[in-house]
Amino acid sequence: MSNEQLTINNNSTIPEGSYIGGGLMRKKIVAGNWKMNKSFFEAEELISDIAEELETIDLNDTEVVVCPPFVYLEMATDIASDSNIRVGAQNVNDHDSGAFTGEISAPMLKSLEVDYSIIGHSERRKYFSEDYAFLRRKVDAVLNHDIQPIFCCGEILPEREAGKHFEIVRNQLEESLFHLPAEKFLRVVIAYEPVWAIGTGVNATPGQAQEMHAFIRRMVAEKYNFNVAEETSILYGGSCNAKNARELFACPDVDGGLIGGASLKSDEFIQIVKSL
Ligand code: PEP
Repeated sequence: MSNEQLTINNNSTIPEGSYIGGGLMRKKIVAGNWKMNKSFFEAEELISDIAEELETIDLNDTEVVVCPPFVYLEMATDIASDSNIRVGAQNVNDHDSGAFTGEISAPMLKSLEVDYSIIGHSERRKYFSEDYAFLRRKVDAVLNHDIQPIFCCGEILPEREAGKHFEIVRNQLEESLFHLPAEKFLRVVIAYEPVWAIGTGVNATPGQAQEMHAFIRRMVAEKYNFNVAEETSILYGGSCNAKNARELFACPDVDGGLIGGASLKSDEFIQIVKSL
């Protein structure tokens, strides 16, 4: 690498000296966040249908993850063990065990062979007042038990309208993720989810998504190095569906999606997987 600054995606630079070379490949991921939906039998049918349909398609390197409610995780990991599906939780507590009535810990998830946990979803930040420090401890808790966090970040509409979206996302990452050493950070999946796009039917444009994903990757490069940035999967979430997935996933810094509503029907979810 020359004395020049290294350019990532034309409009973003990282400082000289950050690049350490190497052939880099990041994982492509489509993850379904089922939220608080489905009866047990509906959930069983949904994951079985997804597993069956996945058998018929060539996934290449795409990883397919489903995140059902806690009470269905055992059933889901059972079915997933015979398929290409990986299973994630939607939440986790920051403690390993103890007097925390109603909570679920990372060791519990690990004992069910859960691979991922969503952390920092905007609904948890909003309705359960989850703050930066709590999310940081949750990230530590899952990584200590070899579960990968799918860490959500994103601005609300007034923040975007005020031009503060980059600052908001920067704070979210700095306060809850950037304490990690590089080898642990490499286990993190980031999901950029503009809150104004979640469940609204109004997705970010590919331009808006790409701009923020490139910004996030540049931050990671500045904090760690170019290799870490290139290996970090950054998913887009927010009203992503079978119609718009292809153009969103075509953005060079969009490595897949975190899908809410459109993950609840196997046909549509599979269409989204095929779009990657
Ligand atoms: C989500 O809640 O993570 C999400 C992306 O939801 P939706 O796809 O329904 O907007």
